[in-house]
Amino acid sequence: MSKKRVLITGGAGFLGSHLCDRFLKEGYRVIAMDNLLTGSLNNIEHLFKEKDFEFYHNDVSKFVHVPGELDYILHFASPASPIEYLKMPIQTLKVGSLGTHNLLGLAKAKNARILIASTSEVYGDPLVHPQTEDYWGNVNPIGPRGVYDEAKRFQEAITMAYHTFHGLETRIVRIFNTYGPRMRLDDGRVLPAFIGQALRGENLTAFGDGSQTRSFCYVDDLVEGIYRLLLSDYAYPVNIGNPDEITIKEFGEEIIRLTDTKSKIIYKPLPEDDPKQRKPDITKAQEILGWNPTFSRSEGLKPTLEYFKKVVQG
Ligand code: NAD
Ligand code: UDP
Repeated sequence: MSKKRVLITGGAGFLGSHLCDRFLKEGYRVIAMDNLLTGSLNNIEHLFKEKDFEFYHNDVSKFVHVPGELDYILHFASPASPIEYLKMPIQTLKVGSLGTHNLLGLAKAKNARILIASTSEVYGDPLVHPQTEDYWGNVNPIGPRGVYDEAKRFQEAITMAYHTFHGLETRIVRIFNTYGPRMRLDDGRVLPAFIGQALRGENLTAFGDGSQTRSFCYVDDLVEGIYRLLLSDYAYPVNIGNPDEITIKEFGEEIIRLTDTKSKIIYKPLPEDDPKQRKPDITKAQEILGWNPTFSRSEGLKPTLEYFKKVVQG
């Protein structure tokens, strides 16, 4: 039997590159497609020697052409950190809308199954806690985060439309804050920001009073959940994340302990529309996919810290 072929957009990014690793390990032929807007070839350079790996340098918001057969598409291209989508609002809106439309069209033409990367941000600043998939969210469409949140909400809507109207095989994963090696030190997300500051002996910048919460999932657990969802027959959104919730202040204290630094936590203004609490309800993933996170934060932070130490030392 010939090997299945999968296209991963955003394949040179943090999550995309880990997905490339996983699908190659599972015996697929993998195409990573990326315009290197926020990603880097460093994340996939170890794969260029693999005969089953190809890289296409392409902006998926403009057009997508892939010769030959495709069995699966995973659409992960998009700026993903708040400071990046604030810097690139139009590209963010385009990749979630036009880019998704292009990839749905490609999936239809190739008769491929497509999984799209949605986010806990579709819940906005949630009024339901923990967040279940049937919660519709509390999003400010014209606030600074609107460019990302609404692009992802549109992405879900058009994906469901292709499913119901064209009968396309679609999957939607709502990803909650995920971390691990290959995150960028300067992407502004709290984990690389705190670790970078701690390793350089600088003070950790908590926004607001640090009482807002997040729930951090290690990348290998996320990839396992995505792999299971893709191969399942479930077309509705599924939360994947680790429900172990922590305040940003406590998280800063944890990083200070782990890095054994003299740094302190200092407080900066809270960005507009910053969600106050976030924790996934993962009942669906447990019941439908038999999935549970397996890495505790201390287990996941070990390889992550090792990675960032190397990056900081250059
Ligand atoms: P990332 O920035 O590391 O990766 C995104 C990749 O997409 C980059 O390599 C970038 O160059 C590429 N890209 C952006 N626009 C493109 C375009 N128009 N054409 C082709 N490539 C393009 O971010 P990430 O953390 O790996 O996130 C990947 C996906 O997962 C995103 O869709 C993001 O919204 C989603 N997500 C991530 C998280 C998380 O915690 N990391 C949480 C929720 C959702
Ligand atoms: N945050 C912080 N200090 C930083 C960066 C972020 O306190 O240097 C806070 C941010 O305000 C938010 C949380 O940490 O409440 C998570 O932010 P991140 O940018 O990682 O992602 P988000 O979950 O908000 O999309």
